[in-house]
Amino acid sequence: MFSTTTKQQSDPGLRDRFHQRSLEHQRPLSTVTMAFTVVAFLCFVGARNLVAGPAAPLAYRLACALVLALLVLAIPHAKSTWTFGAIGVAYSLVMVGGLALNIQGVEQPLLWALPAVVVVPICAAPLWLTPTHYFVGSALFYAAALGLLFGAPHPHDIDVVVWMWIAAIGMPTSAVFHFGFYGFRRNHFLLESQLAQLAATDPLTGLQNRRSFVKQAERRLETMTPDARVSAIFLDIDNFKSLNDRFGHAVGDRALYEIAQALMEEASAEDSVSRIGGEEFAVLLHDGLSGALDLAERLRGAIAAIARPDGFMTASFGVAEHRGGENIMVLLDRADEALLRAKHSGRNRVCAERALPADALRLLADGVSGEASAEGLAENATTARHRWDDYYLTSHFQPLYSLSHQKQVGFEALLRGEQDDGSLVPPMVLFAPKPSSDEGALDRVSHAVHLGNARRLLPADAWLFLNILPATFVAAGYADQLAAIVRKVGLEPERVILEILESHGGSVDDMSQAAALYREHGFLIAVDDFGAGQSNLDRLLRIRPDIVKLDGELIRATSPCSEQPILPKLVSLLHQAGMLVVVEGVETTEELILAVESNVDFAQGYLLGRPAAEIAPPESVQQRIDDAFDVIAQGRAHQHAVFESEVEPYRVGLRLAADALQRGVPPADAFASLAAFGRSISCFILDDSGRQVGPEVPGPAWTKDGASLQPVANPRDARWDHRPYFRNAVLLPGVPVTSNPYLSLASGRPCIAVTLAIQLGDGRAVVGVELDWSVAGLPWPAGD
Ligand code: GH3
Ligand code: MG
Ligand code: MG
Repeated sequence: MFSTTTKQQSDPGLRDRFHQRSLEHQRPLSTVTMAFTVVAFLCFVGARNLVAGPAAPLAYRLACALVLALLVLAIPHAKSTWTFGAIGVAYSLVMVGGLALNIQGVEQPLLWALPAVVVVPICAAPLWLTPTHYFVGSALFYAAALGLLFGAPHPHDIDVVVWMWIAAIGMPTSAVFHFGFYGFRRNHFLLESQLAQLAATDPLTGLQNRRSFVKQAERRLETMTPDARVSAIFLDIDNFKSLNDRFGHAVGDRALYEIAQALMEEASAEDSVSRIGGEEFAVLLHDGLSGALDLAERLRGAIAAIARPDGFMTASFGVAEHRGGENIMVLLDRADEALLRAKHSGRNRVCAERALPADALRLLADGVSGEASAEGLAENATTARHRWDDYYLTSHFQPLYSLSHQKQVGFEALLRGEQDDGSLVPPMVLFAPKPSSDEGALDRVSHAVHLGNARRLLPADAWLFLNILPATFVAAGYADQLAAIVRKVGLEPERVILEILESHGGSVDDMSQAAALYREHGFLIAVDDFGAGQSNLDRLLRIRPDIVKLDGELIRATSPCSEQPILPKLVSLLHQAGMLVVVEGVETTEELILAVESNVDFAQGYLLGRPAAEIAPPESVQQRIDDAFDVIAQGRAHQHAVFESEVEPYRVGLRLAADALQRGVPPADAFASLAAFGRSISCFILDDSGRQVGPEVPGPAWTKDGASLQPVANPRDARWDHRPYFRNAVLLPGVPVTSNPYLSLASGRPCIAVTLAIQLGDGRAVVGVELDWSVAGLPWPAGD
C-alpha cells in the first residue's frame, strides 16, 4: 500500500542464496545421474574386453570406475557450491582418463570414444551449479578429450568427422541445456523468494509479520551462545481505536505506517521489528534488559513525535529479557504482561517485566562483581535498589534490642519502594495485589535486595531478620538458593533469621520439613505475629522456631477477669518450650517496662528505633532500657511490701486456727475468726493425700456467681495434692506458705491460697484459706 524499502527487503545475499538453493535441488539429481554414468562406464569396460587385441590392464580401468563411484558418493556430502564444482571437475577428468585407457589398442579409438565425449557434457550440463562451474568444467573436459585426438598415432579422416560431431552437436547442446536449466532454476528461485517475502511481510507497513517474526526469533534463540542476551519489546499504540473512529481508517493506516518507519529507524539492522497484529508491534534485540529499556524509551520518544489530527501518537511498552531455555512465546508473554501494566498505569510509558529469583541472583552477582551496580554499591551513601514496576525496591532496617544486654542484636529488613525522585511509594501501592502479579516473586527479590544492602550496612555481630512468605519458605529448592545468595554477599546463614510471616500458603507439615532444610544451611527460624491469624500453638510446636515474635497487641492484652497482663505467662511458656521471645511494636515507656518485666528476650518498636535506610548508632535507647530495669526493681520492692502486708494477717490467723485444731477444737470453731476476714473465700483441711476432710468453712468472699464452673465448684470430691499450695506447704511443715494467684473454682475469680502443713491426730494434714484476689490494685507476683 505505502511504498516500503525497508532494511529487511534489500537483499545483498540473494545470489548466494540462489546458488545454495540450487545445490540443494541438484544434489539428489546429480547423484542419480552420475551413478548411471558409472554403470555405463562399467558396460563400456566389459564391451572393450570382448574385442581382441592388446588393451590397457583391466585393473587400471576398474580403478577409474572405483574413483568415479567414490566421487558420486561424495556428492551428497558437498555443502558448498565450490566443493560441488570441484567434484564435478574431478569427475569429468577421471571420466576422460578412463575413456583413454579403454580405447587403447582399438582400431578406431575416437569412434569408440565419440558417444561418450558427445553425451557426457550434455548430460552433465544442467548439473553444473553456476555458469563459471560450467565453463571451467566443460573446458577442462574438452581439452582432455582433445588430448585423445592428438594422442592417436595416425589421425584418420573419420576423426575430423568425430570432432565435427563434438563441436557442432555436443558443445552447443550442452550450453543450451546448462543455460536453459540455469534460467529456469533462477526464475523459480526468484518466484519462491518473492512468495516467501510476501508470506513473511505485513503489506501495510512492510515489517515482518507475526509468523515470520516468531520463526526468525525461534531460530535466533536456538542458535544463540549461552552468554548472549536477548530481550523483547512489546508495544501497543494508545487509543488507536479513537483515531480510526474519529478520522477514518485511512488515517489510522497512515499512522501505522509512520510508526513502523519510526521503529525501523530507531532499531538497528540486527534487531527484528515486527507488526504482531492490529496496532501491536514487537522488537527482538540482542541486548540485556537495561539496553532494551533504553531502546524502548527511544522508541517511545520517536512515536510521541508523530502527529495525529488531535495531537500526537503515543504507545505503551513492555520489556522482558530472555531466560535460558525459554521459548519466544514465553518471552513475549512476559513482555505482554509488562505492557499490560504500562497500560494500567496510565499509557505512554515503558514497564519492565517482573523479576524472578534468577534475576535476583544476577542482580547480586552484578552487585558483587558487575560494573553497573558495583559503582553504586561501592559508594556507601547509595543503596542497592532493584527496578520493579515504575519504581525501585530498597531496604529499611529496624533494630532489635536485647533487653538484658541493652544493645542492638539484630535488624529486621523491611521492603520499601522508591520513586525516581527518591520519594517513597506507599506500602498500599507496593504490596497491593495487581493483575497477574506474583507475590512470591516480590518476596524473593526483596531477599536479594535486603541481603545486598545488609552486606554493606549490617554490623559484624548482628542478626538480619528477613521476612518470608510461607509459600516462598516451602518452595522447592529455595533453601539452597537463598543460602547461595547469602554466601554470595559474604554473610553466613547463621546470621540470618527467617521470619515466617503469618499468611496462607504452605501446610504446617511442609513448613516443618522446610524448616529442617533451612536449619541444615545454618539459618535460624522465627515465627512472626504469634497468636494472630494462622499462627497458633500447634503451628509453633511443629515448626519449632528458635525465636517467636509476638505481636505488639499482646503487650497490651490483659486477662479478662483480673486485668493482669498475660505477656509474662506467655513468655514463660515459650521459654519452657525452648524459644526466645521478641515483642514488636514497643512504642511507650510502659510497654518497654512490661516487656522487661515479662522477661522478654528482645524488643523492637518505634521507642527503640524506627526503620531507616541507614543503620544509625543507638542514642539514648540503652539508657531507656536501663531506666525500665530500675523502675521494675523499685516496683518489685514496693509490690512485695504491699503483698506481704495484705497476706500477713491471714498467715497469723491460719497459725492460730491450726493450733486450735491440734488442741481438738472442731473446725467450724477453729476457723471462725479466720473465715470472718474480708478476703476469705473458705477455710479447709486436706488429708495426707490431698482430699478435703469435712466441709469447708465459708467466708465473706464465698459467692456462687461462678455459675459456669458449677460442675467443678464442689471441692469435696476432689484431690488437691497436685496443687502448688499443697506441695509447697508439705515441703515446709509448720510454715504458712502463700501461692501465686490462680482461678478459684469455688468463686470463678482469681484467688491465692495460704496453706500450712501440720500434724493432726496420727497423720499429716494441710490446713488453708483461699483469699479473693480479684480486686484491682492488688499486687501480683510477676512471672514465676
Ligand atoms: P489502548 O490504548 O487500550 O490500546 O486502546 P486502543 O484503542 O488502542 O485499543 P483497541 O485494542 O481497543 O483498539 C485497537 C484498534 O486498532 C481496533 C482496530 O479497529 C484497529 N486496527 C487494527 N488493525 C488495524 C489496521 O490495520 N488499520 C487500522 N486503520 N486500524 C486497525
Ligand atoms: Mg491492542
Ligand atoms: Mg492500543
